[in-house]
Amino acid sequence: MRVPMIAGNWKMHKTAREAGQAVRALRDLVADATGVEVVVCPPFTALTACLEAARGSRIGVGAQDCYWEKEGAFTGEVSVPMLADLGCSHVIVGHSERRQYFGETDATVDRKIDAVLASGLTCIGCLGETLQEREQGETLAVLDRQLRGGFARHLGSPRLVIAYEPVWAIGTGRTATPAQAQEAHAFLRQLVGRMAGPDVAAGIRILYGGSVKPDNIGALMAQPDVDGGLVGGASLDPFSFARIVKYRG
Ligand code: PEP
Repeated sequence: MRVPMIAGNWKMHKTAREAGQAVRALRDLVADATGVEVVVCPPFTALTACLEAARGSRIGVGAQDCYWEKEGAFTGEVSVPMLADLGCSHVIVGHSERRQYFGETDATVDRKIDAVLASGLTCIGCLGETLQEREQGETLAVLDRQLRGGFARHLGSPRLVIAYEPVWAIGTGRTATPAQAQEAHAFLRQLVGRMAGPDVAAGIRILYGGSVKPDNIGALMAQPDVDGGLVGGASLDPFSFARIVKYRG
């Protein structure tokens, strides 16, 4: 019922030429991977090269951020209609690096999710606790606050995907155990159920992100509430990313 999604977040890596080459390699490597949605999210400057390289393939191309207004005097920003015009199908919103370094808040996440969904694109909305919050036993309270603050009014949209990304696991090589991921995902799904009803909870996809690698994706995907992965470092190499996409073996 929930089609798994494996999405690569390339962060601030790869020129347009490098990104296009990576997508060309990836499209051959994942051509036979069925039953899984594959997405790459390069920097803005490489979107066109990736879209051209992905044309006619099963790879979706998304942005890593957006602004919520359609146009105007917002120097340096990129709107969702601009991304849609290029041919992007997905946008990541609320990544912890945006929250940590660029002042993203639950309120801005809410506005950005709204803008992405209003333009008909799929939104991968991120949330997750810091190490300190986990160590203080606040993980579930943080997820509750972030879901209510940024996601609540969008939960009914079939194009909203949640990415649970514990901050302590991102780029650290320290993956959440499958049990830790399952606990957080099950909690989020229950909360979605209480906020938007059982059908929405049963249908919404919840990805795990945080040091996903070819050798740990299988155990994560075996958890009943893990519906895919948002992959940073291990998505940069097409061979490694293809192994994650083909986690079923
Ligand atoms: C990410 O960028 O969303 C991420 C999870 O990074 P990494 O896989 O490198 O931890």
